[in-house]
Formats: sequence, structure tokens, C-alpha cells
Amino acid sequence: MQPAEKPIRVRFAPSPTGYLHVGGARTALYNWLFARSRSGSFILRIEDTDTSRSTDEAIVQIISSMEWLGLGWDEGPGRPGAYGPYRQMERAALYRQASGQLLSEGKAYRCYCTEEELDEDRKRARAAGRPIVYCGRCRELSAAGEQAFIAEGREAVIRLRMPETGRTVVRDLIHGDVEFENAQLGDFILVRSNGVPTYNFAVAVDDAAMEITHVVRGDDHLANTPRQLILLAAMGKQAPAYAHLPLILGHDRSPLSKRHGSVSVEEFRARGYVREALINYLALLGWSYDAETTLFSVDELVEKFSLERVGSTAAVFDTEKLLWMNGHYIRVLSAGELEARIEEYIKGTSLEGLPGKDGKPGLAELVPLVQEKMKTLADFLDLTDFFFLPLEFEPEIIEKLRGSVQPAAVLEKAIQVLYELPDFDTGTIEASLRRAAADMDIKVGKFLQPLRIAVSAKMVTPGMFETLAVLGREESLARLKAALVLIQ
Ligand code: GLU
Repeated sequence: MQPAEKPIRVRFAPSPTGYLHVGGARTALYNWLFARSRSGSFILRIEDTDTSRSTDEAIVQIISSMEWLGLGWDEGPGRPGAYGPYRQMERAALYRQASGQLLSEGKAYRCYCTEEELDEDRKRARAAGRPIVYCGRCRELSAAGEQAFIAEGREAVIRLRMPETGRTVVRDLIHGDVEFENAQLGDFILVRSNGVPTYNFAVAVDDAAMEITHVVRGDDHLANTPRQLILLAAMGKQAPAYAHLPLILGHDRSPLSKRHGSVSVEEFRARGYVREALINYLALLGWSYDAETTLFSVDELVEKFSLERVGSTAAVFDTEKLLWMNGHYIRVLSAGELEARIEEYIKGTSLEGLPGKDGKPGLAELVPLVQEKMKTLADFLDLTDFFFLPLEFEPEIIEKLRGSVQPAAVLEKAIQVLYELPDFDTGTIEASLRRAAADMDIKVGKFLQPLRIAVSAKMVTPGMFETLAVLGREESLARLKAALVLIQ
């Protein structure tokens, strides 16, 4: 049976050695979209066989990032399925069984070479310009030879007996056919001397056992694929289809890394990015629908995504475009939804719990003032903290206040006008301040500058008329008077 005829089963298989970075998130997203668009199953498998680098905290983090992005899995941690467990270190029995079988069939063998011997081999190979692969010393070890090594106290790894000639072709759905010389692959290790399986072995066993139909993963694993293909064949298993996603580069065209700034989903979340923007942006990092369309809702992505339209050339991570997209998604959220996002976001910040408390403005009042201006949720803090926190006038900002057009006269005029207003709503405030500016023959923008600084100690705020209305008459007048004192 061809893989395509079976129900689609794909997996995202992170190694829990740190936060989920954008490359991993894109791999997860493409798997998720592929599964959702083809009525398949999306499996989350934790590849924790690198015991020195895997941590439980990283698992918690990865899960939290995936849940935040909305990339739910059908089987995996917390969602038991017929193919579990979904953490490799809990699947030891399967690997033992598979390696036992390969050993008994002579397809794998125990290797007793020491680190020193292998080091020597590598040096020699390097000097002779040969590929650095295992030399095969233990390939034909006799039972007596084995016993002697064991008596010496040597420990064994298990290696796969690889073909020494010929080629292995990876039929990649994105890169086309990629050929590898078998002689360059070498008898690689399946099981370490401490009994823990290697990445290539555990992946091949699990992809087969979990009946994975398509392996969608980063380009960095393409070179592992011929090994996994040979291993699957040795185990008598059908290989899945493979799709290796193009590398992600930073703005300088080197592989994206911490040097380029934020790279983890968690960092973007902490910086006030919304999931809609990250999903949309990551979807376009290697995939396109047509030459024009950039904005896709998750539903549209599910409808339109296909592996055929994933490109094979590296994609450049463009932080400006992501920021632009984030602003777009913040603008199109409903006011209620944006309030909920802000509420969540300001937890743990200086504004936590303050909106709506002790007569302070609530989020429902503030969101209309800032929604158009925000590019990230973090912008909410910058744009509105002056409503809640004591004003701090930096010397430069006092200079700006003093340098405004007739600041004292403008502040006095504004105080008088606002004091006398019958109503203190945005429309009334706007009309009266525009008239006041005209009376003084000062352009409205210039007239508002000292007012803006006076009420916020900032140069950039939400619209001044709305801001004054939300602050209320008493508070507005108090701030204007305090600023007047400051410059006199
Ligand atoms: N655990 C591997 C990684 O995090 C992924 C392996 C795979 O997808 O085959 O890079």
C-alpha cells in the first residue's frame, strides 16, 4: 500500500533541550496544517534520548508554547493514544526489542572499540582524506573475540551493518531526489553503551511503530534520512514519505540564531506578539499560496496549505514584517478580545490589576484609544502607563515642555477652558481646545504638545482629546496645573 492511501499520520518530534524556537514552531505548524488539511492525525513525540541535555522544564515550555499557538495534538503528552507512550525514554522496551532483532538477524553487531581507538581511526581517515566513518573493526568479531573484550571490561555499543557500496536515494517531497553514497554513511550507532538509543535509531523505530506516513522536519535532518531509510528497510518496515523544510536565516543570511534577537516563541509572546501573527508569519516562512497574498487566518491556512507549495530555498526571518503583521492582527481583534489579551499580557507587569481599580480607567475605556496605535501588546504599557503610575518627568521631557510654543500661556488657557466646560466628553473637549488654539493663533498640534507632556510626561500618547476625557476633568486639571508649576 502507498503511504498516501493510509490515513495521514504526522508527528512533531522536539528534543526538549530548551524553548520552542521559531524553526521548531514552523515545523510543528506545517505538520499540524498538513494533518488538519488532510483529516490526518498530528502526534507530539518528545525525543528525550539525549539525557544530558533534555529537561522536564523544557517539555513543559514546549507544550505551553504549542498550546499558546493553538497547535493542539491528537496524540502525545496529556493525550493518550493507541501508539503511546509518546516520550522516547518511556519506550525503551521497543528499542530493546528492535535492536535484539537486528542483532539476532546479523543486521546489527556489537562494537567494543574504545574512544581512543576511534579517535585514532578518525585522525587517520582525516589524514588520508577518507570519509570519517566507522572502520568496521568489530564487524566480523568472533564469539571468542567478543568474550575477550568483555573480559577486559570493555562496553559495547550496537551498530547497524550498513551497505558498503551503492547509493541511497531520498525521494524528498520538497527537494526531489537526493542521493547519498552508502560508503559515506558508515556503520552508525543504534544503541549507546549505556543502553540508550541514538536519535537515528529511536526515530526510525518510532516512525514505524507509530505508523507515521509523512515526516515533515527541518533541512538539518536531510543527511540523517538515508540512515533512517536503510534502518527501516533492515527492520522490514515501510518508510514514510519525507519533506524537509528549508532552513530559516537571519537578516544577514546566516542560520537564524540567538544572535539575531528573539528566536523562541516564548520571547515573542513575552514581547507582546499575538498568536495569529506568529502563525500567519511562520506559515509564510517557506510556504506561499500565490505571489500576492500575505494575510491568512488559521482556517484559510488549513484550507490552502499544501506541501507542494513549500519552497526549497532558505527563508529569511524578517522581524519588520512580523511586527507589521502583529499590528495588523491587533487592529482586527474585536475590542473585547483585545481586552482579554491585554489583561493576560499585563500580568506580572507594573500595570497588573490596575485598570479599573480605584477610579482608574478600565480596559474597555482604554482599548479604543490605543488599538490603532499598538504594534505589540507591550505597546499598551508604553501608551497607557501614565493613566496609572505617578508621572516621572525626565530632564529632557521638561526641556520639551519648556520648548513648546508659549507653554505657560497654553496650559493656562487649557486649564481655564476645560474648567468651564459643561460636559467633559471627547467631542466637547475637542471643540473647545480647537477653538482655544485658534484664539491664540497656534496650530492645534503645537497647542496640544504641552498638554500632552503635562498629562503623561511623554511625547507619544493616545489621542489627546480622548485621553483627557478618560482621565476626567479633575485629574486632567490637576496634571495641567502641576506642569505649570514645573515650568514656572
Ligand atoms: N528530535 C529532532 C529535533 O528536535 C527532530 C527529529 C525528527 O523530526 O526526525 O531536531
